[in-house]
Amino acid sequence: MSVLVFVEGLNGEIKKSSLEAASYGSQVAKQLGTSATAVAIGEVHEDALARLGEQGISKVLYDADERLNQFVADAYVKVIAKAAQQESAKVLVFSNTNIGAAVGSKLAVRLNGSLATNVTALPTINGSNFVVTRGVFSGKAFADVELTADVKIIAVKKNSIEVAHEGGSASVEKLSADLTEADFAAAPKETVMQETDGVLLPEAEVVVSGGRGLKGPENWHLVEDLAKALGAATACSKPVSDMDWRPHHEHVGQTGITVSPNLYIAIGISGAIQHLAGVNSSKVIVVINKDPEAPFFKAADYGIVGDAFDVVPKLIEAAKALDK
Ligand code: FAD
Repeated sequence: MSVLVFVEGLNGEIKKSSLEAASYGSQVAKQLGTSATAVAIGEVHEDALARLGEQGISKVLYDADERLNQFVADAYVKVIAKAAQQESAKVLVFSNTNIGAAVGSKLAVRLNGSLATNVTALPTINGSNFVVTRGVFSGKAFADVELTADVKIIAVKKNSIEVAHEGGSASVEKLSADLTEADFAAAPKETVMQETDGVLLPEAEVVVSGGRGLKGPENWHLVEDLAKALGAATACSKPVSDMDWRPHHEHVGQTGITVSPNLYIAIGISGAIQHLAGVNSSKVIVVINKDPEAPFFKAADYGIVGDAFDVVPKLIEAAKALDK
């Protein structure tokens, strides 16, 4: 029996959120006195797979079928189920990304497992009692959930677990799930990834985001220049994209994209609960708002009470100076 971690690739490397899932999976394996195996799919460099040893993974099963370079839920589920069967895995760990959550729920049906998404902490294991803590109500509360099925499936919330760096190298073995054309029946014709200066918003480490406080699209150079100086992706609140100041793929929140960067800078955004739902798993939140009563300050790690038109140009200069 082992713990199986599904890791996602991006541009040949392993996504940071998957490194967190791998660290989580190997710690669960330690709790259970077993080892952690990873399963990787599609276009990932083999040396990146071997480096998963640093997160405590002992073996990586890798299906390099080119048809898996874009996400196809049924085919991914078949590959992961094959790996789970091969490893007799009873605990499956994912990152709570769009892909992880989609695959996790389908696997729960296929393997008759218990699924917990948005998990924020290591499980408490006491004999057959296996309890995880998950964020609920857009991160406003936590629930302890017992996973009672034989197979336990856990999707770990981004930025909840530190990435381990223990050293070591994982062995990499080829895996083939004998995929047929039928497994790709629901494949998308084309996958378009929207980037800002080569940075994908859902994967960005730093995000600079603007709201209605910026008054109009003609002022967006403030957001863009700060983002450029920090190597960040740009984002916005919903009304900003509704008014066509910015494209809809930049809208973050409950009805938009969820981001989990190390640093989220919110400029002229009030911090409504629907906005916070998409950004509250950011590691550090910096809020710039001229209203000291703006709700966003309650969720902020650092706050600047001031006019964005005074504060942001100074931040841009400071960020540029750091680069020199
Ligand atoms: P405002 O609420 O108008 O806030 C502007 C802020 O800028 C204020 O706090 C103000 O003090 C500040 N400001 C003004 N001038 C300056 C200045 N010169 N310098 C500094 N600060 C300044 N919203 C989302 O963002 N994402 C969602 O996914 C989302 N989904 C929703 C779903 C539903 C069902 C509903 C009902 C609403 C949703 N909303 C969403 C809308 C949300 O409720 C808020 O209305 C929205 O987030 C407000 O956007 P804002 O903060 O940019 O604008």
